[in-house]
Amino acid sequence: MTPEKEGGTRASGVEQGRCEVCEGLLAAWQVARGCRLLRCSLCGHVMRDLRLCPAGAREQVYGGSEEFDRVRLFFTRRKLIKMLSRFPADRKLHVLEVGFGNGQLLSFFQKLGHQVYGVEVSRPQSSRLEELSAQGARLFFQGLQRAELPAETLDLIYMIHVAEHLPDPVGGLRKLCAAAGKDALLYLVTPDGHSAGLRVFRDRWWHLEDHTHRRFFTPRSMSACLDQAGFVPLQIQSPLLDSLTLEINSFMRLFYRRGAVMDHALVRALDLLLFPVALAGRLLWPAIRPNMEVLARRQ
Ligand SMILES: [Zn+2]
Repeated sequence: MTPEKEGGTRASGVEQGRCEVCEGLLAAWQVARGCRLLRCSLCGHVMRDLRLCPAGAREQVYGGSEEFDRVRLFFTRRKLIKMLSRFPADRKLHVLEVGFGNGQLLSFFQKLGHQVYGVEVSRPQSSRLEELSAQGARLFFQGLQRAELPAETLDLIYMIHVAEHLPDPVGGLRKLCAAAGKDALLYLVTPDGHSAGLRVFRDRWWHLEDHTHRRFFTPRSMSACLDQAGFVPLQIQSPLLDSLTLEINSFMRLFYRRGAVMDHALVRALDLLLFPVALAGRLLWPAIRPNMEVLARRQ
């Protein structure tokens, strides 16, 4: 899935030494030698200035594996199907995906008869998009802030690994809230800055390999952000199965210190071989799970 990215770190926050969520003071957090993150003294929100925390990040945006992404898509779709059960079965829903990539999930909702909307930062190369548009999908290619979303209409909004890239997450969520209808649901997945994985793997944590990851929410900063934007958090939890190869990739970044670790065939082989071990680790020590999964309702 292509994440929503609209440029670099905004001027507030990192530049002003204030948390972009609660405006608390940011304190330097020496994660490893040559790698300092900035952490809010009030809500624990973690912000990254690439100059202070390069962490051997790859140059390209995408550093995953399409095969493994198919597994993620399967689990995401299963979660979203569960979400549909919260609405009357015969109701035509207005569904928005922010960061829709090749449009696979939107296509699924469209085939179920729902009105779909999508936001991306540029036009992805996918023949599916024409098909989606021809069937009435409303797609926007200039990022969330410029998207002409309908007012008070959407029933279900989801964004999978997008919030960590947004130039202004509070502003972005406010915009989504304005487009949300009564009792609309918001579902999102994003890295968890409170994960023990960041403390264990430090600058090798795989989420730091993506140079466009500008922040890591904590459950507390996510709650505050949702509240400011007009959403009530219903559930914030750490999913067991998301980014299943993250711990193995993080470990392998100890040896491959620059660029995309999954470019190496050995790493992909170990991901396949060792993911049951990683899974067992997450069951025994849930704090190491790398992401947070959020369900919220419009206030
Ligand atoms: Zn804060």
